[in-house]
Amino acid sequence: MINAPLSELRRALDAREISAVELASLFLDRIEAANPALNAFITVDRDGALAAAREADARIAAGTAGPLTGIPLAHKDVFCTEGVLTSCGSKMLANFVSPYDAHVVTLLKNAGTVMLGKTNMDEFAMGSSNENSHYGPAKNPWDNTRIPGGSSGGSAVAVAARLAPIATGTDTGGSVRQPAALTGVTGIKPTYGVCSRYGMVAYASSLDQAGAFGASAADCAALLTAMAGFDARDSTSLERPAEDYSRDLDKPLAGLRIGLPREFFGPGMADDVRAAVDAALAEYRKLGATTVDVSLPNAQLAIPAYYVIAPAEASSNLSRFDGVRYGHRAAEYGDLADMYEKSRAQGFGAEVKRRILVGTYVLSHGYYDAYYLKAQKLRRLIAEDFRAAFTQCDVIAGPTSPTTAWAIGEKSDDPVQMYLSDIYTIAVNLAGLPGLSHPAGFGTGGLPVGLQLIGDYFAEGRLLNAAHRFQQATDWHTRRPAAFA
Ligand code: GLN
Repeated sequence: MINAPLSELRRALDAREISAVELASLFLDRIEAANPALNAFITVDRDGALAAAREADARIAAGTAGPLTGIPLAHKDVFCTEGVLTSCGSKMLANFVSPYDAHVVTLLKNAGTVMLGKTNMDEFAMGSSNENSHYGPAKNPWDNTRIPGGSSGGSAVAVAARLAPIATGTDTGGSVRQPAALTGVTGIKPTYGVCSRYGMVAYASSLDQAGAFGASAADCAALLTAMAGFDARDSTSLERPAEDYSRDLDKPLAGLRIGLPREFFGPGMADDVRAAVDAALAEYRKLGATTVDVSLPNAQLAIPAYYVIAPAEASSNLSRFDGVRYGHRAAEYGDLADMYEKSRAQGFGAEVKRRILVGTYVLSHGYYDAYYLKAQKLRRLIAEDFRAAFTQCDVIAGPTSPTTAWAIGEKSDDPVQMYLSDIYTIAVNLAGLPGLSHPAGFGTGGLPVGLQLIGDYFAEGRLLNAAHRFQQATDWHTRRPAAFA
C-alpha cells in the first residue's frame, strides 16, 4: 500500500480492502519512524488526520466518495490550515495557529483528503536547499548528508520517502520542480493564476503559485485537478472552466514537437545530469516525439531579473510581520519603533533579512528606475522569448537543475552559487508558464536527476500527458531510496 499509486489506493479504499483510518495510520507510523532522520515535517497532526479519515470512511460507506476521498497528503507549511500551526519555516510565525484555511486547503479538504501534517520549507519559501528553515534542514532520503532542494523540500522528501503519497508545494522560482528533481519525484507548477493564492503566505505575489508533488505524473494530475479553481478572494485567480488534468494522460506522443533551448544545454550543466537528460530525450523520440532546436536569448537574464523583482515584492509582503497582530514579538522593548525593530530582528533569519534589504533598496527613490523597472522590462522580454519558441514547438525540455543534490552546508556561505542553482526554473515563473519535473535517471553517487518540461499557458494537461507516457515506458519514477523502499 505504501508504494501504491493513487489509482490503486482509490480501488482498495472503495473495495474496503483498507479503511481510510488504516491507511492514514500506516503513513503516520512511517512518519513517526522516519521523521527524526529526515526532518520532512514541522507538524504531524495525528488526531486531525484520524478524524478526517473517519469522515472519509463515512463518505466511502455512503457512496459519496470522490477521487481523493480518504487519500492521505501533506501540505507545505506555507498554506494556512485552520487550527494547525502555520509557521512558514520561520521563527516569526512559530506561534501562528491559523484561524482559517487557504483556498487550496479548503478544496482538498472538501475532496475528502486526509492531511497528515505540515512540511518543512525554507523560511518564507526563500531558498533552494531547505537549509534556511528555522526548524533545521530537511534531508534527502537518497543520501541524508545532502539537501533535498527547496523551498518545498519537506514535501518532496515526504513523497520520495513515501511518508505521504502526495503533497502540496509552492513554486516562486522553482520550489516545486527543483526539489522534485533532486529527490526523484514528479512535481508540477501550473500556469500563474490556476490555483488561488488565498491563504498561501505571500513571498513574491506576482510569481508565487501552488503546485503538486507525486510519485508519478498521473498522481500529480489527480492532485492538481482538485487544487485548481477560481477563487474571488485572490484577484489574480483565473476564472476558467474546471479542468480534468488526467483527461489526456494516455494520448500518444506521436508528432509532439519538443523544443530544446540552446541556452539550457550549454556549459553549467553537470555531465551526469546531461547524460540522464540526453537519455530521457532519446526515450521521448522513441515514443514518437521530435526534437527541435529553439532559443531563449534572454534566459540568462532571468536570475538577475528575479533577484530584483522577488525581493522587491517580498520586502513589501513581509512588512506585515510587525509583532503586533500575530507572529513573534520581542519580550522586551522600549517604544513602538523599538518593538518593531527587535521583533523583526529576532523573528527573521539571515536570508529573509538579506532579501528585505535588497528589495527595499531596489524600490527606493533613485534606484527604482535603474533596478526594478529594468527588471520588469527583462521580464517582458523573457516572456516574449517563450512566446516565440512556442511557435516552433509544443513543449520545451531541458534539465530541471544544473546538478544533483549537493552536500548540506556546501553553498550556505555563498548566496550567489545558491541563486544560480535555479537557472533553468526561474524564467518559467517570470513568464507565468506551467512547468513540470519528472525523474529521468540517476547521476553520480546514485542521486536522482530530473527532466523539466515547460508548456505554453494552460498546457498543464500536455505536460502531464508527456510525462505519463514517458513513465509508462520507463521505471525511474518507481525507484525508491533503499532505506525507505
Ligand atoms: N530558490 C528560489 C528563491 O530562493 C525560488 C524559491 C521558490 O520557488 N519559492 O527565491
